[in-house]
Amino acid sequence: MRTNTAVDRVFNFSAGPAVLPVPVIEEAQRDLLSLPGCGASILEISHRSKPFIAILEDAEQRLRDLLAIPRSYRVLFLQGGSRLQFSMVPMNLLRGSGKAAEFVLTGSWSNYAIKEAKREGQTRVLWDGRDTNYDRLPKLDELPYGDSAYVHLTSNETIQGVQFASDPKRSESVFVADMSSDFMHRPVDVSRYGLIYACAQKNAGPAGVTVVIVREDLLERSADSLPGYMNYQAHHEANSLYNTPPTFGIYVVGLVCKWLQEEVGGLANMYQRNRDKARLLYDVLDESPDFYQGHARASDRSLMNATFRLPSDELTAAFVCEAAAHQLESLEGHRSVGGIRASIYNAMPVEGVEALRDLMVDFRNRHAS
Ligand SMILES: *Cc1c(COP(=O)(O)O)cnc(C)c1O
Repeated sequence: MRTNTAVDRVFNFSAGPAVLPVPVIEEAQRDLLSLPGCGASILEISHRSKPFIAILEDAEQRLRDLLAIPRSYRVLFLQGGSRLQFSMVPMNLLRGSGKAAEFVLTGSWSNYAIKEAKREGQTRVLWDGRDTNYDRLPKLDELPYGDSAYVHLTSNETIQGVQFASDPKRSESVFVADMSSDFMHRPVDVSRYGLIYACAQKNAGPAGVTVVIVREDLLERSADSLPGYMNYQAHHEANSLYNTPPTFGIYVVGLVCKWLQEEVGGLANMYQRNRDKARLLYDVLDESPDFYQGHARASDRSLMNATFRLPSDELTAAFVCEAAAHQLESLEGHRSVGGIRASIYNAMPVEGVEALRDLMVDFRNRHAS
């Protein structure tokens, strides 16, 4: 039986909450009763205590170093997941702007995002992939941009498995990116964006904390009339301690960043690993397009969520069943796309992807007509 540590752990292909690096869980476990030098658990200490402030500052500094976040950007640790950002972004950046927010609709999550923005103000759709069931992406430099409050895009559509491979170039627009499911999977040029948000539970930590990276000047758009918690400016002024923040989640995000820095060697290395892992699966799709039919067009395929179908529902069910027998878990596709979804985030070890690839090849050889 193949496992990925001495302890019995499956290879977990869940879309989120998702696999975390083993050294991160081990460190959290080792220090759970008493943080070194503190004498109490991270679960027990005040968010205003010295040890926690040190953890918060360390997590922010590691994020800044990994992503080369310019000094003119603020880093906020919030709650409410990315769903709350679907509302907070338009409340802060669209309300009262007299302009529309422009949306690139590339899948389920961007559609949820525009739905919330419509409650706040004017929206305009720059591109919509609905006609082909969100299997492809537009070229970002060729969209019919106007004078907008901001342009919202979803860097990786977790459900459909399409992902933008590069950052937008246009400097006249303020880009807001939902990076929930590919945060820190490669180096990004933060200066190309006005605001980046990512719930942690896909690629950066546990559920409960959401990272927001926002360009300082945009904070001036936040109206005083907003409810306190919904105001980015309030969180910035309070240094992410406006209310009790998700202390444990912030701690684990810091550990994930430390793992990326010290064990992976930075985001360029992480990106190479991610490309290598995804290639293992996509090579099988390309070799056998009649058996494994990818959902996403090859040029727009995600390095994080590989989505594909087998020739029948019976074969899909049989595949999921065999996978579980091989300790390969949570491979069922989202109900709106069907088939298989293999989420292979940063923390998925290459051995897990190799094991899935081996099963795919073997299963095809036994079942292809
Ligand atoms: C998971 C996900 C969300 C929703 O995150 P919550 O934390 O559940 O609110 C939003 N956008 C994308 C791209 C996601 O993958």
